[in-house]
Amino acid sequence: MSKDCIKIADDYTGYALSNFCVPRHYEEDLENVLIPWGLIQDRTERLARDIFQDIRDEPLTALCVLKGGYRFYTDLLDKLTTLNRFHASVSVQLHVDFIRLKSYENDDSTGDIRVIGGDNLSNLRGHNVLVVEDIIDTGRTMSRLLAILQKYEPKSVKVASLLVKRRPDSTGYRPDYCGFEVPDKFVVGYALDYNEYFRDLNHICVINDTGKAKYKI
Ligand code: 5GP
Repeated sequence: MSKDCIKIADDYTGYALSNFCVPRHYEEDLENVLIPWGLIQDRTERLARDIFQDIRDEPLTALCVLKGGYRFYTDLLDKLTTLNRFHASVSVQLHVDFIRLKSYENDDSTGDIRVIGGDNLSNLRGHNVLVVEDIIDTGRTMSRLLAILQKYEPKSVKVASLLVKRRPDSTGYRPDYCGFEVPDKFVVGYALDYNEYFRDLNHICVINDTGKAKYKI
């Protein structure tokens, strides 16, 4: 198991938007490209390999936390199924499941984390579950979700989060698999949203004040 993350420093200014293809409708709304799409793919490939080696020959139920986790989830599962195709000696049978949580409005956590949809969680009883999440911020959502999941008596639960934010008020929760540790800034793109905008952006970017004001509710 690997708890290593790629650490992105607080003073890292990312890449200028002009270096990458960004949809024209978001050009005014972003500070910089923090993690280009290609790097996300490369890092996800390694996370898939770590998960594959840890699980080995046991079935795995991959639980996607919607909506923000959906792109990381599909890319991670694509890479796991590729490993299954090419490894003759190890094989991880995959099941897919989905859960929808709601906790954020604008760029603030409401503190009220609710399950607002998804599959019947009793399907998880006795399964090895891999929760696939976009970002751990304070860690409250994940602690709450893990407490909910334990009620359904899974065989094991592990968590893969593409991003973990460095926050002074973090609960200290760390996922089993982590893509990147990022500064305490609000990030969008690659399915991470700001009030449902920016999911259609490939790269992970830092939103600017114009973007926050334009899409505020
Ligand atoms: P936590 O409970 O860990 O504070 O918050 C986790 C959830 O908040 C994530 O699943 C995500 O929905 C949302 N979130 C936290 N930080 C960000 C961020 O920088 N960008 C986006 N788009 N969502 C975030």
